[in-house]
Amino acid sequence: MENEAAGELAGKRALITGGAGGIGAACARRLSRLGAVVTVADRDADGAQRVATEIGGEAWQVDLSDTAALEGLALSTDILINNAGIQHIDPVEEFDPATWRRMLDIMLTAPFLLTRAALPGMYAAGWGRVINVSSIHGLVASPYKSAYVAAKHGLQGLTKTLALEAGERGVTCNCVNPGYVRTPLVESQIADQARTNKISESEVLETIMLASSAVKRLVEPDEVADLICWLAGPMSGMATGASWVLDGGWTAR
Ligand code: NAD
Repeated sequence: MENEAAGELAGKRALITGGAGGIGAACARRLSRLGAVVTVADRDADGAQRVATEIGGEAWQVDLSDTAALEGLALSTDILINNAGIQHIDPVEEFDPATWRRMLDIMLTAPFLLTRAALPGMYAAGWGRVINVSSIHGLVASPYKSAYVAAKHGLQGLTKTLALEAGERGVTCNCVNPGYVRTPLVESQIADQARTNKISESEVLETIMLASSAVKRLVEPDEVADLICWLAGPMSGMATGASWVLDGGWTAR
């Protein structure tokens, strides 16, 4: 899906969380090429500023685990992409409750609060796009990733509920579910899985990440950005409440 229609998003403001790296940075660059004015939100202030400077956007340093600070916020944006995420791997009986809460805050409560903050402006404009970056693990489970799987499944429910509430007011809401994407998150996950499963990193790649893939390679961040930008654009008005998989056939098996 090539989606580089110059100016397609001219006049639109976009906010992307986790925009300093990985999928978020690829997405920020593509949104900017399509004409949007992009706010790059991330806890990594330097990284967010680097991407924002490169694309002529704005940086917003924010720690999404501080959900109390997100309450009462008002956001002025036409496109909201809830993308920031973290991973932690441990068996349920050893999973630290504080880590569980932090992961749910970053990947479920923060998207809810940011959406809540952006909706009044979108409703006033009669147009808006909310895109939640979930995962194949928002559709199927994976051992040792309980908080991640729970948060990403939760995002599917938030997405569908908002789609039903917002459709008649010009606002769409969709989930994007990438398979394993070549980003720093996956690189650290390969190391963690090797430790937890007591196998080598190349075995993790081959037996856990790519064995079920039909295409037999990692997804590239630009491929995810392309799908997100189509959902953010003017041609996707009938796409709402849906769960978009981009996994090289991983969940088809
Ligand atoms: P990444 O680690 O490369 O980037 C994540 C970004 O989120 C970083 O810039 C980080 O600083 C930011 N971030 C983390 N915690 C934050 C917090 N508390 N407040 C603000 N910013 C914070 O990860 P990625 O691979 O680009 O992942 C992006 C999204 O895609 C995540 O939600 C992830 O779960 C999802 N995803 C990734 C993959 C994959 O294989 N990489 C697969 C499916 C879904």
